[in-house]
Amino acid sequence: MIIVVSGPGGVGKGTIVDALVKRDPQLWLSRSWTTREQRPSETDDAYVFTTADAFEERISCGGFLEWTEFLGNYYGTPTPDVGDERDLVLEIEVDGAQQVKRVAPETMLIFVMPPSREEQERRLRGRGDVDHKVLARLKKAEEEEPIGRQLADHVVVNDDLETTIDEMLSIIGAARAAE
Ligand code: 5GP
Repeated sequence: MIIVVSGPGGVGKGTIVDALVKRDPQLWLSRSWTTREQRPSETDDAYVFTTADAFEERISCGGFLEWTEFLGNYYGTPTPDVGDERDLVLEIEVDGAQQVKRVAPETMLIFVMPPSREEQERRLRGRGDVDHKVLARLKKAEEEEPIGRQLADHVVVNDDLETTIDEMLSIIGAARAAE
């Protein structure tokens, strides 16, 4: 099973997916490539931080399940190892989610929403992005949300983190039971 977790910047996707893979040993999280600069608050393994040249070379070799350009940087999911029996979790934006749904229609998309725009802005500022980047992400969120909600199999509002994680684990459990 492929589980895509998508949603606007600052909604808490990263924290959520980290908690999901910690709690459910049947899940594994793909590590994306990006050409964006590493944030001071980020660990080295948050992404494979790479150059545009290396990224483009990997595109030309067909080395991505999906990739996109998001606010001036490349982001992509390396083609996953098909030998892994666990369920794959991808934390990606909506364009990538659309691509994955196209190549693997059985993919389950969970779209995470912030409780309010004010709370989303507070979370974006809290991770140390500069002002113009926060504003660009808020604008991007306005574009992404209607598409994501329409594409999603489940929409979850991340108000309380623990409640959100429990809700998502039960969605995943129900999907497995239905397989
Ligand atoms: P950020 O710069 O905040 O880490 O990520 C920006 C956006 O890119 C977020 O919505 C994040 O989920 C998304 N993203 C991260 N990795 C990938 C990826 O491999 N593919 C796609 N399409 N989006 C990604």
